[in-house]
Amino acid sequence: MKKGNIDVHCHLLNGRFAFDELLEIGWRWMHDDYPYKDGQMRRSVRSVKLPLPPFIRGLILYAASLFEAVTRDPEGNYRYELDCYAESAFSDSLPLLAVPLMMDIYFIFDDGGAHGRRSTPGTLTLAKRRASLEPLHVGKNLQVPFDAFAEEMKELVLQEVSERMAKEGRRAAAAVSIKKKELAEQLDAIIGECRAPREKKAGTRGSSGAGDVQMTRGYRNHIDALGEIRRKNPDSVFPFLAVDPRRIGIDRLVNDHVLHGDFQGVKLYCPLGYLPSHPDLNPVFRICIANGIPVTAHTSPGGFPSQSGEIRTFSRKKDGSVVPVFFNKAAFVKKRKPAGGECAASLFFADPLNWLEVLESPGFENLKVNFAHFGGEENIRAFAGGKAKADNWTACIVELMERYDNVYADISYCPGSDMPSLIEKIVRVHPKAGQRLMFGTDYVMLMINGCGLTSYFNEYMALPPAMLSDNAARFLKRS
Ligand SMILES: [Zn+2]
Repeated sequence: MKKGNIDVHCHLLNGRFAFDELLEIGWRWMHDDYPYKDGQMRRSVRSVKLPLPPFIRGLILYAASLFEAVTRDPEGNYRYELDCYAESAFSDSLPLLAVPLMMDIYFIFDDGGAHGRRSTPGTLTLAKRRASLEPLHVGKNLQVPFDAFAEEMKELVLQEVSERMAKEGRRAAAAVSIKKKELAEQLDAIIGECRAPREKKAGTRGSSGAGDVQMTRGYRNHIDALGEIRRKNPDSVFPFLAVDPRRIGIDRLVNDHVLHGDFQGVKLYCPLGYLPSHPDLNPVFRICIANGIPVTAHTSPGGFPSQSGEIRTFSRKKDGSVVPVFFNKAAFVKKRKPAGGECAASLFFADPLNWLEVLESPGFENLKVNFAHFGGEENIRAFAGGKAKADNWTACIVELMERYDNVYADISYCPGSDMPSLIEKIVRVHPKAGQRLMFGTDYVMLMINGCGLTSYFNEYMALPPAMLSDNAARFLKRS
């Protein structure tokens, strides 16, 4: 790895990723095949007009927000980040190294069987698991209903994008109609690719959906895109593979793409409905510990959480026993009402205290973990200002840093020009944090909220070199 300033937390995804997954989730759901195949098809697929999944709106909003804010492909997103860096006050400084993190939104509606629609992953028979591994395929006899479904998804995304543009009044009517036309063409192209069987590309081992792993279109395409950017920029781009323990064969994916592939580390997004102590993450963490592979986990009370009101899942305790866990949003909110910008599922699943069962497991104390967002802006402010409540996440992460040598945190998505001085205040009292905190942008998510990347770079110019470079270099280094 060359010496550089490191953006240890960015994303290069775009609307295409979300639309790919939207089509896959919706289509599979209508065939009782989401997130796994379970039983025979109960819904009619002969009628052209299919009932849409009731929860799909959240995903349409997500896709629309990405299509509106991010107009480039992953490689274009990377070039744009380099351009902003060159434009910023960093221009005379070290080169920029980027750590693009993948997302895996496929399980966003999975309730783990809380509503009895399917059995839990642990009890799925092998035959059913195998059936779930079949790539999304639109057979000839399903062409008409698929086209009707995809067309409806396309219209809903287009409608949402134009409503957003109109509301913000940012563009003239003519520009809106050009954008709509371009977007419609883009969506048509994606739909067309869903119909065509995917040709096997050489050198993309494990990403064809063959073998024992479950692949979805958006996930697979994003692995390919990030792998290509890495191969073109081997010394300056270090992608992280999105890991969700519910994806069948996830340890195999980590083996193929992280241990023996183009990916540097592992990304977890627990608010989508699982704990870091999920039993199927255990083999993944073992690979990470044995090879010094870094893990980044979303740790702020906001973000893009599971859309299920109830989730049935499991937790592996430090003594090795596995216990069931049940999340009930309504009951949770009664006890701990989320403040503005907070989400119940994030508060429940992304709580840094959940990591104790992992880090206190025998042999797991050296796992390298980055608690992304350092507990989130509000927690950082309260902690730096000496107003932290007992359950302050930033305080908890600092305590973990003081206890474990390989606990890190990034300060991505923390807008506010006073942030570097708040961080400095924390480090004065807790010097360990000065050796573990890392710079990050959360680009392209930053764009969705209308923040400029160049000005973000300028605001963080004030960070000490350890946080801009050395700490992240140590975190990323594999053994
Ligand atoms: Zn992020």
